[in-house]
Amino acid sequence: MSTSRTVSTKQISNKKPLGKKAIGVFGGSFDPVHFGHLRAALELALTFNLESVRLVPNHQPPHRALADVSAQHRIAMLELAIRQCGQLKLDTREMDRNGPSYTIDTLMSLREEFGVEAPLIFGLGADAFEKIASWHRANELLEVSNIAVLSRPGTDVNAISDQTLPFAAHWVSAADALLSTPSGLLYKLEMTPLAISSTRIREQIARGWAPDFLLPEAVCHYIEQHQLYRPANARLTLSKEAEL
Ligand code: ATP
Ligand code: MG
Repeated sequence: MSTSRTVSTKQISNKKPLGKKAIGVFGGSFDPVHFGHLRAALELALTFNLESVRLVPNHQPPHRALADVSAQHRIAMLELAIRQCGQLKLDTREMDRNGPSYTIDTLMSLREEFGVEAPLIFGLGADAFEKIASWHRANELLEVSNIAVLSRPGTDVNAISDQTLPFAAHWVSAADALLSTPSGLLYKLEMTPLAISSTRIREQIARGWAPDFLLPEAVCHYIEQHQLYRPANARLTLSKEAEL
């Protein structure tokens, strides 16, 4: 028997919004940040009418080898990317902790900062959600926050069975429901599909392709200026050329 239950929209519509400002969170390696991340975070803000969404770069992603470039470069690129957008904010709390960046710790620290009543909405892409059962203390995530799963080309979120989830899946079909409760609900957010990935961008740059039109212009310039994501010998050749 499945442990999931769907909370009906009727049940939810009886609930009043908490009156507490909801907090939107979107984590990642941002190695480098691209339009897929930025549009996802913005559509999270627009869907829930959030004042802002916090972009939280990982210090040390728990599920992969260390990010390709330093934390300082990833932060600098994020800063450049969101400079013109008041709805997206940089949140470096994971950088300030040692060891792996566990989402449960980040959500708990936001809970401490904003209090028990504030609705927390943690957004993540469908590909990341697919692996959520393997996350550290996964069964506690919904105790601390709501979760919005954003569509991402290449992953069918509807194919993920509730039974593979580490928690009782309380899916709701009305976005507003997540504003009526501090935690505990799941929502599927159909975002504008953008088949962009950092891995592909890194591979293309290593091959010598410019990353233009996949990420903000200022970030493209930064990557070029610092010669990021190039194979070590290409970097050497370029810096030699620069000396001549
Ligand atoms: P990598 O290829 O290095 O894993 P990535 O493009 O997947 O990079 P991440 O930093 O791993 O980017 O992703 C951070 C979050 O953004 C994850 O929740 C991921 O699912 C989501 N995300 C990334 N790109 C997209 C996209 N194009 N559409 C929707 N969600 C995305
Ligand atoms: Mg990824």
